[in-house]
Amino acid sequence: MLATKETRRLAILGGKPAFSQPLCVGRPNIGDRQLFMKYISQALDNRWLTNQGPLVVEFERQLSRFLRVKHCLAVCNATLGLELAIRALGMQGEVIVPSFTFVATAHALQWQGITPVFADVDPRTHTLDPHAVERLINPRTTGIIGVHLWGRPCDTDGLRRVARKHRLRLLYDAAHAFGCSHRGRMIGGFGHAEVFSFHATKFFHTFEGGAITTDDDDLAARIRLMRNFGFAGYDDVVYLGTNGKMNEISAAMGLANLRSLGDVITVNYRNYSRYRQGLAGVPGLSLIQYDERERCSFQYIVVDVDARITGIHRDRLVEVLHAENVIARRYFWPGCHRMEPYRSLYPQASVHLPQTQNVADRVLVLPTGTAVEEHQIETICDILRQAIVDADAVRRPLGPDPLSGSTVDKEEERALVP
Ligand SMILES: *Cc1c(COP(=O)(O)O)cnc(C)c1O
Repeated sequence: MLATKETRRLAILGGKPAFSQPLCVGRPNIGDRQLFMKYISQALDNRWLTNQGPLVVEFERQLSRFLRVKHCLAVCNATLGLELAIRALGMQGEVIVPSFTFVATAHALQWQGITPVFADVDPRTHTLDPHAVERLINPRTTGIIGVHLWGRPCDTDGLRRVARKHRLRLLYDAAHAFGCSHRGRMIGGFGHAEVFSFHATKFFHTFEGGAITTDDDDLAARIRLMRNFGFAGYDDVVYLGTNGKMNEISAAMGLANLRSLGDVITVNYRNYSRYRQGLAGVPGLSLIQYDERERCSFQYIVVDVDARITGIHRDRLVEVLHAENVIARRYFWPGCHRMEPYRSLYPQASVHLPQTQNVADRVLVLPTGTAVEEHQIETICDILRQAIVDADAVRRPLGPDPLSGSTVDKEEERALVP
């Protein structure tokens, strides 16, 4: 536990934090600022601020061209986009989703009285396992929502096969997957529809926002009506609707960020490569890989922590990093099924989710994006390397009271049992 030459004393062991300012996951990338300001001036001059204004129309046009889909409907956020798509697809009863996702995927169902049935993920890809999905299908099942987690595509062939065989609707939560491709085809064109998030923390953003993409004309027409209270014209409401519209300011940010997309990907790829080099050979840590033959945003730096090898549980590594002002995250711990209201409503869900619980206990997400510099990544990798070298000291903090172990210690010790 004594700092050796050239190595830092970890902040958690009493050293000085490596960073004076917090380094966060999902710090927004800001695109072409001048272009953004120009669009804002235009919107203000026009006095057209929302209700399918010219910037939203242009934004939708550019998106559908980029994603090569027939229809792209901009919405105020992805959660509402999921709700709209779920409703317009006629999903009801039970819908199968992963638990290993951001909670909005499940909430979008439960919010409208549909039961999310949690299926397990493939531990290699972290996305829905089609076999696990198929085992949960019953007469109440009406659909499947796959999540392209970390921007890595679901097993779209497997899910399509299961959906076709059982006549289910197939929707994708593509919140992580803007700008990513699958077998050379842009994500956005799979399933009956896909939903993107353009929240500020995502790779590409519009402050808040999202989009629904589909090649289905009827579905697009229904969503278009629902997005705007069901208005088909002045004073003519033909449908039950809500307010899911995107405003002009968001579209302005989207248009500016589209222009800078390539630059952000370049930075993210550089950062990903740095992390890969920095963590190569660190025992027990492995960075999830992206298929470099595909288009990819490299937005998520996800590290799998094998506590039996590192000697330190993922949760303790998060504490080590936080002490250094690196705000690493445990996405998506503990899994939706262990959050309310699902934990109380479906207490048996975990029976089907061994891989979900395993993965949710191991992964760690590190900061990247244009707000993070290469030398900072080297420091983050050094911290992780050092924590593992100092595992004995890190695992058992030199507290004043050796009898009061923290809950993390207990969890950690459990995890260390092979
Ligand atoms: C961010 C996110 C959402 C929600 O997106 P919002 O635009 O914030 O509503 C949904 N699903 C996943 C997987 C996400 O990461």
